[in-house]
Amino acid sequence: MAIDMSEHQNSHSMISGALATPELRADRWMNVLYLARKWEKTKNPLSKEQLLISLKNLEEIDIYFAYPGAICLKLLNEYLQENDTKAFLRLSQRISTNIISKKFHRDISVWDGENYEDEPFNRLPQAISRIKTKPYFEVLSVVPHARSRWQHIKEEARGVRRPEDEFIYETVVVGTAADALKGILLNSDIGAVVLYEGFEPGYSSQDDFLRVFKDVIDLSSVEEDEFLSLSLAQAIKKIRPELDIFLLSDQNIEDFSGKKESLIFNRIFYQMEEPLEIHLAIMEAIHCRYRTPFFDNLKKYAERPIATFHALPIARGKSIFTSNWISDMGEFYGPNLFLAESSATTGGLDSLLEPTGNIKDAQDMAAKAFGADHAFFVTNGTSTSNKMVLQALLVPGDIVILDRNCHKSHHYGCVLSGAQPYYVEAFPLVEYSMYGGVPLKTIKQSLLKLKSQGELNRVKMVDLTNCTFDGHVYDVRRVMEECLAIKPDLIFLWDEAWFGFAHWSPLLRQRTAMGAAAAIDEALNQPEALAAWEDQQKVLGENPTDEMLLATRLVPDPRSVSVRVYQTNSIHKSMSALRQGSIVLVKDAKFEHVESQFHEAIFTHASTSPNLQIIASLDVARRQMQLEGYGLVANAMRVSLEIRKQINSHPVISKYFRVLNNSEMIPEAFRESGLSEYNDPNVDWSKAIEAIKDDEFIIDPSRMTLSCGHAGFDGTTFKNILADKFNIQLNKTSRNSVLLQSNINNNRSDIALLLSVLNEISMDLENKFRKGGVDYKENFQISIDKLVYDLPNLPNFSKFDDCYRDDPKSDTLHGDIRRAFYDAYNESGCEYVLLNSPEIDERLKSGPVLVSANFVIPYPPGFPIMVPGQVITEEIIEFMRKLDVKEIHGFNKYLGLKLLNKKSIS
Ligand SMILES: *Cc1c(COP(=O)(O)O)cnc(C)c1O
Repeated sequence: MAIDMSEHQNSHSMISGALATPELRADRWMNVLYLARKWEKTKNPLSKEQLLISLKNLEEIDIYFAYPGAICLKLLNEYLQENDTKAFLRLSQRISTNIISKKFHRDISVWDGENYEDEPFNRLPQAISRIKTKPYFEVLSVVPHARSRWQHIKEEARGVRRPEDEFIYETVVVGTAADALKGILLNSDIGAVVLYEGFEPGYSSQDDFLRVFKDVIDLSSVEEDEFLSLSLAQAIKKIRPELDIFLLSDQNIEDFSGKKESLIFNRIFYQMEEPLEIHLAIMEAIHCRYRTPFFDNLKKYAERPIATFHALPIARGKSIFTSNWISDMGEFYGPNLFLAESSATTGGLDSLLEPTGNIKDAQDMAAKAFGADHAFFVTNGTSTSNKMVLQALLVPGDIVILDRNCHKSHHYGCVLSGAQPYYVEAFPLVEYSMYGGVPLKTIKQSLLKLKSQGELNRVKMVDLTNCTFDGHVYDVRRVMEECLAIKPDLIFLWDEAWFGFAHWSPLLRQRTAMGAAAAIDEALNQPEALAAWEDQQKVLGENPTDEMLLATRLVPDPRSVSVRVYQTNSIHKSMSALRQGSIVLVKDAKFEHVESQFHEAIFTHASTSPNLQIIASLDVARRQMQLEGYGLVANAMRVSLEIRKQINSHPVISKYFRVLNNSEMIPEAFRESGLSEYNDPNVDWSKAIEAIKDDEFIIDPSRMTLSCGHAGFDGTTFKNILADKFNIQLNKTSRNSVLLQSNINNNRSDIALLLSVLNEISMDLENKFRKGGVDYKENFQISIDKLVYDLPNLPNFSKFDDCYRDDPKSDTLHGDIRRAFYDAYNESGCEYVLLNSPEIDERLKSGPVLVSANFVIPYPPGFPIMVPGQVITEEIIEFMRKLDVKEIHGFNKYLGLKLLNKKSIS
């Protein structure tokens, strides 16, 4: 079945659809509903015509879903034929609501059809309908049987349901590999796939829908039908690696079961096998993802009568509930919080510092879920995760290529480890007073420069932020491959504090550290990798110039490379974990050589009293993503893309506000595809896919920079208005923008709320403008000019003072940040100079140089404009003087800049 990609029947641009395929169906149902209302009101035959088309569009998608099912669609068509506008509207209203609210997951009665109907459709067996709260999913069966048998296959699966089942599922049946792929892309409820050997490929290169994904997700194997089941399973795992796949074969399964390839299947059955066996295997597979070893045990622990004699009075809650004075805390949080508290590591609670039981188990499950080899839970945020990784892998004197604009934990990690940061600059976005990402060319240049100075051997790590606060996402794979071509043993640390959810988007996954590491691993093991490297060597010759190396897309030598990748991830920022819940993910071919150091770093930084509730929430967040992450992330994408579209096309709102698109956030040179915005109605899916695959930078669609300068608000003021007057919270601002984020928690109502608030503010501005006199208009313009046009240049990192550089004669940038940091502990060796004092200007002109004693980090923009030991330049002073933010960490305006007094520097 071909899915119509033009989506002419509504205005949703298809390009955004590629990122949110599971939302496609809801959109189409909304469209049917819209037309049904129109038809009911007007009784116009033209509306009926449109409805017919709309229903057709719907049917080609609805075959991939269990709810509402074919019988219901038939009913709708009958109403249409009979011109029963009322019945049609009522039924389509009901179905749409159930789909959007996912009520059919929880409430068996909605499957019951219209109550007034004599013949209810899809009625579930009575015995089952009592059980309402079992988690619900759908199983996709890919079969060779004639269509007439499909209903029987569904019934058969229902027939083996048992009251003691932990979950409940419905079956979706398709007949080809191509339909199976569409099914798992479109239907996020699919939790398991059963392949009945003998199904057709059904695959055609004309198939628009799959062609689009083919560019990113290698589906080539599906076309070879030598062993179609295996190829299909591999393609499914590329798209949704979390899915469980079962094979029903009538061949020699004993032969195949022994092979490595068979591991992709959860289990292989004889085609003749009992349906009950298959049912039980499916239940068990889902249970394996549903299991939360630590959380499950914590719940058990809380139920047990336990007397505590350890140091945690709050445990069991007795000190709370019996207190005269603090019992409201108990009322507020409820007893379970206290019953689940303990400072013991006995009772099966395991120890986060040296896990051997259920924490270890939970970490292993998380590693698998995120595509890593190892995972470590961290209960003090990614701030700690970063410091752990830096300290584990670096020794004093090592050089780390570091984005200067990164989170402060990386800078402090250098101080702690004694590694010398070689700061590289992200591209600036001066108009919005923010930075993007570090261009690959800059990173390569710094490696080549270090090489020319004979210091490449000291470079241990490249440390970058993906995605940045403002949503700049790297081409992670390309960055690593090209760096490894220059130095094959580099370690990468990707700070993906914001980006953990991306693993559950088949398109964004390739841009995560773990996704890219897996792809590199796979590619390096192909024979083509060596051939590509050899070809490149021929072209480059013996002694390629830096220019040649910079201009070439370098490939690494597969024989010398080891893939060593670390990813840190604030689970609490994009998934359902409590604040500070963070994780370190590891895919390091040499991890065994650093494992003991890594544990030392954990011992250094981790609390010996880790919060059990945070650990439990990390466990639970993993469960959620593995079972519904695909759909939730797609929904977050849809929400953000819709917000972008609505704001930027709104007649009034767009006069004052706009969500910046790719072309405003990323200079053209880094957008090879030319894609300017995700919602561009003039380009199709394949463009978005091309951009996501190949552009040096893309914007994480879920992060929306809303420019508010043209409304006369600076970011901080606007943020406060939204919070105080409208209860809308957000956390980042720039001089003339605020950052909005959609996440797995948002829904369509949030879009409506945000729009109505922006509309209200915009209308208010319109009114003031109309009523205000000439003065008002002039002042308004002045404040806009100040916010939008009069912006300070962002100062680059200057350099470390010579006394902190190993070789002052070299022109490389790294320096001993740790020594500078500790020199500032010597009070008499430091001085303060007021920012506006003439002394500063004099010393800038004729010395002695100004050397910063500490980190100075203004919020916003939130990056260190000075680090310990850094030479302060005129640009930096100019920027500081222009900066009108209140919060500047490391700077006290009454004392002035803290400087290292050069005479005292060792
Ligand atoms: C928030 C953040 C951190 C710190 O993470 P916490 O979990 O808040 O400690 C580190 N890096 C980046 C890029 C961040 O955005």
